[in-house]
Amino acid sequence: MGKTYVVVAEVRGGSLRQVSLEALQAVAAAKQDGDVAAAVLIGSQITPLASELANYVDGQVFSVDHPDLEIYNPESYLNVMKTVFDRVAPDAVVLGHTALGRDLGPAIAAHLGAGQISDVTAIEKNGDDILFTRPIYAGKAFEQRQFTGGPQVVTIRPNNFAPVEAASSPGEIVELDYTPSGSLRSIVKDIVRKTSGKVDLTEAKVVVSGGRGVKSAEGFKPLEELAEVLNGAVGASRAACDAGYCDYSMQIGQTGKVVTPEIYIACGISGAIQHLAGMSQSRIIIAINKDPEAPIFKIADYGIVGDLFEVVPLLTQEFRKA
Ligand code: FAD
Repeated sequence: MGKTYVVVAEVRGGSLRQVSLEALQAVAAAKQDGDVAAAVLIGSQITPLASELANYVDGQVFSVDHPDLEIYNPESYLNVMKTVFDRVAPDAVVLGHTALGRDLGPAIAAHLGAGQISDVTAIEKNGDDILFTRPIYAGKAFEQRQFTGGPQVVTIRPNNFAPVEAASSPGEIVELDYTPSGSLRSIVKDIVRKTSGKVDLTEAKVVVSGGRGVKSAEGFKPLEELAEVLNGAVGASRAACDAGYCDYSMQIGQTGKVVTPEIYIACGISGAIQHLAGMSQSRIIIAINKDPEAPIFKIADYGIVGDLFEVVPLLTQEFRKA
């Protein structure tokens, strides 16, 4: 009998997250003939999104829609997953390596008694063996891992798999009831959003990032303009966050967010190892720094030695024309 894969899809700002379609692509890469992919969508007022998701899934789409599920809560989401597992016994559960996936994945693994491989950037099939590639030592090396048994839980790093293509025929939507548990140990009362960017930093195709060289909060304006023209997001080094130029939600690196955009533009960032841990897997790295000896140039595909306050507005001007 074939394997059953269950992808936990995510909703953000009323849309399906791109990483969920990437997780489905990861499953497509791992699947053998006879394997089935199902998906789970949890949230509030998600009926249209469940229909959208069904276009990409050849198996069932479990839709669990309830006002109490609008905001992620580990206990209530795990309770939902338990009801899904009553309907379908998974061989593997796949999530995005997002804040939700990093939290819910291990809880699911503990519940299922499963092994977990996290932060997967590539999948290789070698006969019946599936090899999962993941970065280690803050991105300085990669390892390939393999499960020795099941069940399995996998989280995949955003922006490393192409979004899955539409299935030949839409999957079947199964609406599951949810009864709020009166015994949740914690609940979210409110969320205060810090980021104002239109594009999610971890999913952005282009990230324009500023460091201490940006010199002030005002200094981030030209970077924001460049990001807007490129439909990208703005990130920062920890030094820029520590200096109060921007919010910590923008920090990229070992103790910040990990991004793998197609283009990463580092402006006034020296290239400390802790910063590289969060961006070195970007497809193309462009560094703008006035110090030709700055370590960032060692990993940059393109380097511009110059003053960012001259270079960044020129780039914005040129991209506006394009
Ligand atoms: P700097 O190293 O000061 O570099 C500023 C650069 O700007 C210089 O190269 C300079 O030449 C250039 N510059 C100045 N003016 C201009 C100009 N006008 N035009 C062009 N270039 C200009 N850092 C992170 O980023 N993320 C992390 O997650 C992180 N985690 C850490 C965890 C630990 C445990 C520790 C110890 C450190 C961590 N750090 C992290 C800090 C890290 O070590 C560096 O201190 C930090 O990344 C430096 O930031 P920066 O490159 O912006 O600043």
